[in-house]
Amino acid sequence: MPIYEFQCKDCGEVFEELVLGSNCQGVKCKRCKSSQISKLMSQVAFKSGGKFVSASGSACSSCSSGSCSSCK
Ligand SMILES: [Zn+2]
Repeated sequence: MPIYEFQCKDCGEVFEELVLGSNCQGVKCKRCKSSQISKLMSQVAFKSGGKFVSASGSACSSCSSGSCSSCK
């Protein structure tokens, strides 16, 4: 499941939110409920077996899958 990282422009809070598709319109800051948030595109993470595997920069080069944890 794709979990995106967001940063609140008001209080600076960084939080993760599960986003279905590309719809992140309803995402609000978990601390101050502000809708002034920015999506941290490079911090897409996938939950894999209970641990987070970062897909940024170090994405698997063998299968091009960000969630791959077996051939890293
Ligand atoms: Zn906030």
